[in-house]
Amino acid sequence: MTRIIKVAVPGPFRTPLDYLPPQAEPSADVPVEPGSRVSVPLGRRRLVGVVVGAEDHSSLDAHRLRRVQKVLDSAPILDTDILELAHWASEYYHHPLGEVLARCLPPRHRRPDAGTPRTPRVWQLTAAGLSTDLATLARTPAQARAVETLRAATAPQRDEDLRAVGIRSEIIRKLEQAGLIVAMDAMVASALEPPVSDDRPRLNVHQAAAADAIVAAMDSFVVSLLDGITGSGKTEVYLHAMTSAMAAGRQVLLLVPEIGLTPQAEQRLHHRFGSAVATLHSGMSDLLRLRAWERARRGGARILIGTRSAIFTPLPDLGLIVVDEEHDESFKQQDGLRYSARDLALVRARNRGIPVVLGSATPSLETLHNAGAGRYRHLLLPERAGGASRPTMGLVDLRRHPAPEGFAAPLQTAMNEALTAGNQVLVFLNRRGFAPVLRCSDCGWMADCHRCDARMTVHSRPAGLRCHHCGARRSLPPECPQCGAPEPMPIGQGTQRSEHVLGRHFPGTPVIRIDRDSTASQPALQAALDRIGRGDPCILVGTQMLAKGHHFPAVTLVAVLDADSGLFSADFRSSERLAQQILQVAGRAGRAERPGRVLIQTHEPNHPLWETLLRQDYAAFAAAALDERRQTGLPPFSHLALLRAEAPDRATVWAFLERTAACLDGEQPQVAVLGPVAALRERLAGRYRAQLLLQSPTRPPLHALLRNRLAEVEALPESRRVRWSLDVDPIDLY
Ligand code: ADP
Ligand code: ZN
Ligand code: ZN
Repeated sequence: MTRIIKVAVPGPFRTPLDYLPPQAEPSADVPVEPGSRVSVPLGRRRLVGVVVGAEDHSSLDAHRLRRVQKVLDSAPILDTDILELAHWASEYYHHPLGEVLARCLPPRHRRPDAGTPRTPRVWQLTAAGLSTDLATLARTPAQARAVETLRAATAPQRDEDLRAVGIRSEIIRKLEQAGLIVAMDAMVASALEPPVSDDRPRLNVHQAAAADAIVAAMDSFVVSLLDGITGSGKTEVYLHAMTSAMAAGRQVLLLVPEIGLTPQAEQRLHHRFGSAVATLHSGMSDLLRLRAWERARRGGARILIGTRSAIFTPLPDLGLIVVDEEHDESFKQQDGLRYSARDLALVRARNRGIPVVLGSATPSLETLHNAGAGRYRHLLLPERAGGASRPTMGLVDLRRHPAPEGFAAPLQTAMNEALTAGNQVLVFLNRRGFAPVLRCSDCGWMADCHRCDARMTVHSRPAGLRCHHCGARRSLPPECPQCGAPEPMPIGQGTQRSEHVLGRHFPGTPVIRIDRDSTASQPALQAALDRIGRGDPCILVGTQMLAKGHHFPAVTLVAVLDADSGLFSADFRSSERLAQQILQVAGRAGRAERPGRVLIQTHEPNHPLWETLLRQDYAAFAAAALDERRQTGLPPFSHLALLRAEAPDRATVWAFLERTAACLDGEQPQVAVLGPVAALRERLAGRYRAQLLLQSPTRPPLHALLRNRLAEVEALPESRRVRWSLDVDPIDLY
């Protein structure tokens, strides 16, 4: 009897592939369980796949089957929790299972040559070893010296490290017997550090009510929306719930939207929980990611903080998931497997029967809709914690107060006042570079990208033109290429220009710019945040990187330079996005004792959106926005999938999408197949883009359609001439 091993291999395969057991293990009972990695041949390549099952027979001819080359894990490395989540994601996002499972592994575990890393044994102090009085070891000086050595070491020590400083194996054994040290696997060991302190603030009544509600439902799938204004102390509520989960022997997963926010969260949790905390995000080296992943998988890490991909980490004792800033769009992956980590968190929690907390000051409309329908519990934190008051908000009418250099007179006055009083000012402008347009004032020529339907952005230091869509770079033309007039003019404001202008207006005040150009690296960002944290008067200029989650106690004035572009955008989510952005950035003002103020420059002071936003009444805004979505039948009142395609020439794209539309149309009468239509920016990086939108009042027919017809679309000859992708629950439609 030949056993067939079903392996999910990365690649465009809708089903797992069949392999014979490896040669080296001829016994019929090959211990290859679902969740173990194997290396398998595929064409002329060798790949890492994940075993998903075994069968007695294959539908393929036995002589065509190839053998598993090597079993990489003696026991499953992905547990049933993760396998179940991966299956779900593969079906829901209509994405190959092998590709989904590859995402569940840290990069090092995806390499066929890497094998299981060698892990020497290391020694570390136990809690008793940490606290024991060295005087009690006075009669055994060698043991005392060994304990001292381990206390002074920054990391656990290998046998040979200890022998090198004259500590013999016999001493090590005695200490182990005495329970002062413990042997650990080097891969997952980290110095045992107790919490720094226990100085938790007393929860206020709202926090206590929210925390009690979460803790009371610790053993079942309950979704809580923690809807608390910025600075209301949501993090304290998470910490309280985490403490309770950990006391019950559970692990906790905390998802945060941005890499930039992980050090901050890590610091706060490390302070409270010691070295039981591990961090996982794509900015870490492959080795560090592997270590954190293994610590989490083996239960060494009790709390895992991570960005969206951390949702796929095995956590054997997982008992609570917290999604901080749940509205944030970075939880949605925008290429490959286009998943929402927030939505997967709910699925994982439902599978396991554990609670989830979704926290935000500006919850997404989907989440509010679910809370309103009674599917989530709605916990409110209506006041700022610790005595800070809400900022006041106002508009600066740019029609009455022109701002040729980006800063209207009333704003400049307010900035002056804040700085003179010894405070910090935050200037928000969601456009990096020097200026968005380069224009000839004689003939009106503008610098366009040759490969995209887009203007080139002017950059200073290094000077040049850059396309923010495809990355193309050109030098600044000394004269207009069309009419020859000298020096085309940069028009409009970017963060670099604001930095420059502010340097002139406020000489002697440091200007710190935070955007992807100035602080691309984590250390650069951290250095900037540290400088701000010192609290000396300064001006921060930045993009949305500044708006998210950061705690800047010395900022009292927040200026929003240009919000108007969000008022009239074509995308149905633009007003939601604008409201969230404004209230989040406003939330950076006055978070400590000093009261805050927010000024928004606009040409459209009468736009109805301002009225609700100035009252900081996100709930009223959301209710109106949801009403509009209901009337227009947009999510959450319908469900969408977007099929995007691109190719170097337009006709190929349209031919594919027209065939696809014909193939999809009519199969499910409830699903509207809309398009093809050109993408908002039709040409990008030299390729033409168009799309089909599938819209359905409920989810099942939409998924049935995709399940039934996607294979046909894949088989279309036209599909091989385009790049195409499917986005289920897209967050933008262009
Ligand atoms: P959020 O995450 O809701 O924006 P944070 O949890 O960061 O708010 O809290 C904002 C500030 O208030 C922090 O400095 C925090 O230490 C402080 N804080 C939170 N809860 C309390 C409390 N109960 N008493 C005093 N200070 C608190
Ligand atoms: Zn010209
Ligand atoms: Zn371009």
